[in-house]
Amino acid sequence: MGNQYKQYIDGEWTTGESTETFTSENPATGETLGTFHHGTETDVERAVDAAEEAYEDWRSLSRINRAEYLWDVYHELRDRHEELGEIVSMECGKEISEGKADVTEAWHMVEWAAGDARHPQGDVVPSEVASKDAYMRRKPRGVVGCITPWNFPVAIPFWHMAVTLVEGNTVVWKPAEQTPWCAQIVAEMMVDAGIPDGVFNLVQGYGDTGAAIVDHDDVNTVLFTGSAEVGQGIASEVAQYPGKRAACEMGGKNAIVITEKADLDTAVHSAVMSSFKTTGQRCVSSERLIVHADVYDEFKERFVSLAEDVAVGDPLEEDTFMGPLIEAEHHEKVREYNELARSEDTNVLVDRTELDDREIPDGHEDGHWVGPFVYEADPDADLRCTSEEVFGPHVALLKYEGDIERGVEIQNDTEYGLAGAVISEDYRQINYYRDHAEVGLAYGNLPCIGAEVQLPFGGVKKSGNGFPSAREIIEAVTDRTAWTLNNSRDIEMAQGLSADITTKDE
Ligand code: NAD
Repeated sequence: MGNQYKQYIDGEWTTGESTETFTSENPATGETLGTFHHGTETDVERAVDAAEEAYEDWRSLSRINRAEYLWDVYHELRDRHEELGEIVSMECGKEISEGKADVTEAWHMVEWAAGDARHPQGDVVPSEVASKDAYMRRKPRGVVGCITPWNFPVAIPFWHMAVTLVEGNTVVWKPAEQTPWCAQIVAEMMVDAGIPDGVFNLVQGYGDTGAAIVDHDDVNTVLFTGSAEVGQGIASEVAQYPGKRAACEMGGKNAIVITEKADLDTAVHSAVMSSFKTTGQRCVSSERLIVHADVYDEFKERFVSLAEDVAVGDPLEEDTFMGPLIEAEHHEKVREYNELARSEDTNVLVDRTELDDREIPDGHEDGHWVGPFVYEADPDADLRCTSEEVFGPHVALLKYEGDIERGVEIQNDTEYGLAGAVISEDYRQINYYRDHAEVGLAYGNLPCIGAEVQLPFGGVKKSGNGFPSAREIIEAVTDRTAWTLNNSRDIEMAQGLSADITTKDE
């Protein structure tokens, strides 16, 4: 079932050298959506050669001309919004408004990058010497390898590729093996926008295809978004090669701190959105709710009641709140973590690990269904379930006493540092959280999900390696040159350094 699709290398749709294929599956039904070629090392080699070959011509266009191609991609994304939004929903199981929002976020990113092409690039800076002009200028880095996850199959590729292309780099992209159909449509849009041959290449496949991109000598920049396990491996691999760079955006064990001064309507709404939207499969999803003792009982009652009730169902239906998990292997992992939480020292409050048959829509019996799992735990206990990223609707309530400092201390008691939120009506508590929470994305009186492209997107600690994505990806895909021009015939140095050349006769 489904069509058979090719890879896009050097301006051609091709099976490549690959004879092995893989399929994409609808996680809500088990239906096969399409068959794809598993890219080999030779396919990667060809794609990198094409990107290398196309690089000089592409970088020699003006930034504004390069952006014009991206404006065409922007229109493609808008014109095919409904169609692609549904494909996102079908291929990764996100409910339909999320499927469409994924595409909207992608065109926002393209709009930002293409619009930025007419803005100043670099800085004009003063020199100590009146006759010198000094600038910070940016140069593209060359062939950029983009390796993306399945959970934002349209938005994240554009977080990687939009700015990268506008800045004059060429791209070899390896999307996630779970969402090759979304990648196919994105590639069709790039082709329809007339992006010159070799500037954009799509190689499909699994981790081995991604690893071949990372290892290639002519890929000097790797942009990776995905799990900490894979990202750390890529960052250490790349660190062995001088001049090579990897920008890695990874997972989280995100938290919301709900203080004694919280508005509980805001707290409950934010917590449900953060923990269960996308079935907990956002890098910024919250798996820890840190709640002050004074409001704990009321918060718990209201949160638990909604966790029991949120609608799990067909992602294509608008009244669904949670779709399925992405695949069988991940379903098993979430089941195991729920089991682990039971075996560690916790008190389980909601367990919808196995849904009632009546909750599963007709014809969707083969989907990877799961509902919320909620438990109470001691914030001081050293538990795996409250420390490791589950990436599912698995959430711990952690009660604290004392001031905001204690709430933030628990929030920071994790190796990760991606996203977090504070819910409070007291601006002093909010400001304390803003200044002390060890996260790259922080929210006040909001869910800890919901990024916008004009802000940097990236974590600290184990969640990122210092190159945030979205607008800030420019730091990963360009090199800065300090450029100084002398307008005089004399050479005059900064810091009063003498420019006189004395000779032995003097
Ligand atoms: P993953 O790490 O399993 O895979 C991500 C990509 O890396 C895929 O394309 C995969 O094929 C590729 N890959 C796997 N092994 C590789 C290797 N050895 N070398 C090169 N490439 C390799 O992640 P996933 O399951 O697709 O996504 C879920 C994870 O991503 C979660 O941990 C989530 O928190 C994280 N995530 C992070 C962000 C962020 O911006 N921080 C955003 C979305 C998802």
